[in-house]
Amino acid sequence: MVQKYDYDLFVIGAGSGGVRASRVAAQLGARVAVAEERYLGGTCVNVGCIPKKLLVYASEFSDAFADAAGFGWTIGASRFDWGALIANKDKEIARLNGVYERLLTTAGVTIIDGRATLLDAHTVAIGSERITARYILVAVGGWPAAPRIPGAELAISSNEAFHLHAMPERVIVVGGGYIGVEFAGIFRGLGAEVTLVHRGDLFLRGFDDDLRAALADEMRKRGVALRFNTLLERIEKRGAGVRATLTNGETIDAALVLLATGRRPNTHGLGLEAAGVKMDGAGAIVVDRHSRTSVENIFAVGDVTNRRNLTPVAIAEGRAAAETMFGKRAMAVDYENVPSAVFSHPPIATVGLTEMEARARFGAVDIYKSSFRPLKHTLSGRDERTLMKLVVEPKSERVLGCHMIGADAGEIIQGLAVALQCGATKRQFDATIGIHPTAAEEFVTMREKAASQ
Ligand code: NDP
Repeated sequence: MVQKYDYDLFVIGAGSGGVRASRVAAQLGARVAVAEERYLGGTCVNVGCIPKKLLVYASEFSDAFADAAGFGWTIGASRFDWGALIANKDKEIARLNGVYERLLTTAGVTIIDGRATLLDAHTVAIGSERITARYILVAVGGWPAAPRIPGAELAISSNEAFHLHAMPERVIVVGGGYIGVEFAGIFRGLGAEVTLVHRGDLFLRGFDDDLRAALADEMRKRGVALRFNTLLERIEKRGAGVRATLTNGETIDAALVLLATGRRPNTHGLGLEAAGVKMDGAGAIVVDRHSRTSVENIFAVGDVTNRRNLTPVAIAEGRAAAETMFGKRAMAVDYENVPSAVFSHPPIATVGLTEMEARARFGAVDIYKSSFRPLKHTLSGRDERTLMKLVVEPKSERVLGCHMIGADAGEIIQGLAVALQCGATKRQFDATIGIHPTAAEEFVTMREKAASQ
C-alpha cells in the first residue's frame, strides 16, 4: 500500500509532553517522528524540574549541618564546591538524555535533530527537508520572558542559572512565582546573600494565602531579604557584577540578577499562522479539551498551550492526545485536583481549592488548620513551623483542598491527592489512622474548625 504521508504523526519538541505522545502513538501502531532542536527531555530534564531538584538537595545540606549539633554531632568545617555540583548534575542530565533517546528509539520513534517549522497543515520543514504527516503535534514548551527594563540583558534567566561557572555570593531574584521562590532558596541555602523582589503584596499568587504568608516568614528567618510591591527599575554593570536599582529607591550591588518573571509559549517563528493554527493574545496555542487546535489534524500539548504548566500535566495531555488520534476513543485530561509543589525552604505543596477559591465557588466552607514545630526541631533548635490546612465543603463534608508548608510537603500531598481524586470526606480523613510520629498524621487528626461559614 502506498502511504499518503511520510508519517502518521510528526511531533515537534521532545519534552515531557512530546515524548509521551510519541511513545503512546507508536505503541498504538502509528509511524512517528519527533523533531528536537535543543535537548531531549525538554525543559524539565535539562533546565527545569530535575536539575532544580538536584540543586535544592544541595542547598539543604547547610540546614542538616546546622541542625546536627542538637543531636550530638560535631561537624567539622564544611566547604561547598559549586563546580563539583554542576559537573555531577550535568553528568546525570546527560544520562537522562540518553534514557529519553532509548525510550523513543525502542518504541520505534524516529528522532530528527533539528528545528521543525510548519509549512501547511500536513507539512513540516527541517532545513531544506520537507516531511509530511497525517497528524502534527506541537509540544515546543515555553521560554523565559524578561521584563523590558534598561540593562535586562545583564541579567540571566533560570536557563543560565543551571550553568553558572561560579557560585554567586550576592544574588537578586526578580519574580514571585515557582522559579523565583525556588532559586532564592537554592542560592540562600548554598550560602549566598539573596534579595527577592516581587511586584505584588506577597509572592506565589494562586496559592493559599496562609501558605504564602508562612513561607514569607520562613524565608525571612533564613535571611532572604524580601522586597514586595517593588519592581526592578534598571540594571547597570558594576565591576565584575551588577548594580540593580529598585522602584523603592534602593540600589543593590550583586554578582547576579536572576529574572524569574514568567515564561512564554515558544510559538514564535514556528509557522503556525501558515498552517492556520490559532493562538491567544499571549502567543499560546488555543486547543479544545482533547488538545486539538483550530486545525483538525494539528494538536498541541504542554506549556505551549499555557494551561497548567507542569510536567505531569504535559505528560497526561500527551497521552490523551495520542489516544485521541490513534486510540479507540477521544481522551481528555481532568484538570481538577492537579497537585503541585514549590521546592522552597521549607517546601509547599497543595491539591484542590484554596480557601479563597472554595469560598468563591461554595460560599461557606469549613477550615481546619494545624501549625506546629516539627518534632525534629525540638532538638535541632531551628525556629521553623509546619502549617497544614484542610478546606471542607460543609454540606457534603467533601475535602476540597489540602495545603501544607513543611518538610516533605510534596511527598505528603501526593498521597492526599489520591484521596481528593476519590472524593474523600472529612469524616473519612478522620476515620483514617495516623502514622505516629509523623507530620502527615496531622492531616487525619484535625478536629477543631479554625473558621466557619
Ligand atoms: P510564574 O508565572 O509562576 O511567576 C512569574 C512571577 O513573575 C510572578 O510572581 C509574577 O507576578 C512576576 N512577573 C511577571 N511579569 C513581571 C514583570 N514584568 N515584572 C515583574 N514581575 C513580573 O512563572 P515562573 O517563571 O516562576 O514559572 C513558570 C512556570 O513554570 C510556572 O507557571 C509553573 O507552572 C512552572 N514551574 C513549576 C515548578 C514546580 O512545579 N515546582 C517549578 C518551576 C516552574 P504576578 O504574580 O504579579 O503576576
